[in-house]
This record gives sequence, structure tokens and C-alpha cells, in this order.
Amino acid sequence: MAELGEHAVVLGASVGGLLAARVLADFYRSVTVIERDVLPTDPTNRRGVPQGRMFHVLQARGAEIMEELLPGFREELAAAGVATWDGVDFSKIWVSIGGHRLVRVGESPGSPMSITFPSRPLLEWNLRRRVRALPNVTVLEEHDIEGLTVTPDRGRVTGAHAIDRRTGDQMTLTADLVFESTGRGSRTPAFLQELGYGRPPEDELMIHLAYACQMLRIRADHRHPPAKRCARRSPSTPAPTRPPPFGAAGRPGMCCARSCSPPS
Ligand SMILES: Cc1cc2nc3c(=O)[nH]c(=O)nc-3n(C[C@H](O)[C@H](O)[C@H](O)COP(=O)(O)OP(=O)(O)OC[C@H]3O[C@@H](n4cnc5c(N)ncnc54)[C@H](O)[C@@H]3O)c2cc1C
Repeated sequence: MAELGEHAVVLGASVGGLLAARVLADFYRSVTVIERDVLPTDPTNRRGVPQGRMFHVLQARGAEIMEELLPGFREELAAAGVATWDGVDFSKIWVSIGGHRLVRVGESPGSPMSITFPSRPLLEWNLRRRVRALPNVTVLEEHDIEGLTVTPDRGRVTGAHAIDRRTGDQMTLTADLVFESTGRGSRTPAFLQELGYGRPPEDELMIHLAYACQMLRIRADHRHPPAKRCARRSPSTPAPTRPPPFGAAGRPGMCCARSCSPPS
């Protein structure tokens, strides 16, 4: 593939940053990913991804892209016990949209849209494991991104400042490309403002929902239908008689239930 430059820097080592690093590794001689957190060596939660404790699903296209970028990725999730609904057999899911229940017999006539149910930490851990194994990618953990560097005429971003959280040492990484992926609490708009670029415009949509999620352990001998349904998925969107949406999905022995409702 055409080499576009010597060095790319990715800010943030979560799902977005790791996937960006994987793509950039094809086009830059080296890629450095900077991350504030200590990154767990196993599939556990971490501070910088508070939503990691919440129920997550991986939609079909996301899984396909991960598989294209990291061959064998889906098999690795399956080997770790992650359930996938193949998008074909309706008896394996329970879905209610606006009070209308999807049929529970038969098969999907069109192209299947599979849904995978990894926990958020497991998904990220497997991505991290695979991206870290790339010979030209370095993940610099426990480093705070403190700002961006630019050319004297401010025509171009040329790198990023970071501080080692353990030692307080400062460093500047120069790069042909800087990719921002520090999520919702990103300081990049403030960094751009400090440099005189102005903050990017933001659109905000208030959705007036609160969100809760609970992990439940299912007894091996449990025969109650909702517990069995959890083995795949049981989302229910608002209906006139039952406004709060609810979803549940599981992996063997566990079920994660989530519900959203307007904050009181
Ligand atoms: C309740 C909830 C449920 C969700 N459910 C789903 C779902 O079912 N399916 C789905 O696909 N998505 C779901 N999402 C969305 C998904 O979690 C996010 O879209 C995804 O995590 C965004 O990834 P990201 O890499 O862009 O950012 P983030 O995951 O937010 O990561 C940002 C990273 O940047 C690092 N960072 C931030 N600032 C700095 C700094 N100054 N220096 C160094 N590092 C820094 C953080 O530590 C973190 O690692 C859900 C989100 C929420 C809140």
C-alpha cells in the first residue's frame, strides 16, 4: 500500500483509536497511540470508559469491519464465549418494537444482519491485543494528552504534547497526521481554541433519558422463559402501555438487562 508518511499519532486507545491505528498502520511507517489509562491486560473495565459496565451489542457492519481489518476477530470472540444471533433464526430472539412483537418462527428472507454480544471490555481488550501485535504500532499508556503542536503559521497540526502520569515527564511527538479519538470528554476543542482555530461547532440533542444496566447471574437450572431468551436478545422499544424501553442479552450463565426512562 502507498506510504503516506513517517509517523501518525492517535489520541485515545479505545475502540475508535485502536481501529484508526489499525488502518493507519497500513499507510504510515509507525503509529503511536497515546492513552491516559493503565490498560488492563485482561478483559476488565477501566476508568476512561465508564460506559464499559453497560450492556453493549456489536452490530453486523461493525463486526464485518473488525473482521476485515483483523482477520479471525469474530472467531476469537466466539472462542471467548460471546454469543451471536445469526440474523436468520427468529426463534432465537425476542423483539418488540412499539408494542409489535417480531415473529418467533421462521427465518429471515433477506440478507442476514447478525448481532454479536461481547461485553464492552472484552471487545476492546481483543482489539487492543490484536492492534498491539502489529509491528509498527506502539501504545503509550499512562500518558495525558496536554495539547497539540502546529506549524509557525498555524497552517497545520504537527504533533501532540503528552505527560507521563507516573514520572511527570513531558514529551512532544511529531507526526504527519494526528487522529483525534478521545471520546466524549475530549479536550481537543479546547486545544484548538488555545491555538486560535476556534472550537468546532457542536450540535446538541437533549434526549431526556436516564439509563441503567444490571448484570444478572442465571442459575444453570433456570427454566423461566425470560432467562432463556436472554441467551440471545430481548429488546423492547417504547409501547403506549409500557413506555420505558428495555433490553436484555446474555452470554452463557449471565444476562445483562438495561432500561431507559426519563429522569425523574
Ligand atoms: C450507556 C452506553 C451504552 C452504549 N451501548 C452501545 C452499544 O450497545 N453498541 C455500540 O456500538 N456502542 C454503544 N455505546 C457507544 C460506545 O460505547 C462508544 O461509541 C464508544 O466507546 C466510543 O469509542 P471512542 O473510541 O470514540 O471513545 P471512548 O470509548 O470514549 O474512549 C476515549 C479514550 O480516550 C482516552 N482519553 C480521553 N482523554 C484523554 C487525554 N486527555 N489523554 C489521553 N487519553 C485520553 C480515554 O481514556 C479513552 O480511552 C454506548 C455508550 C453508552 C454511554
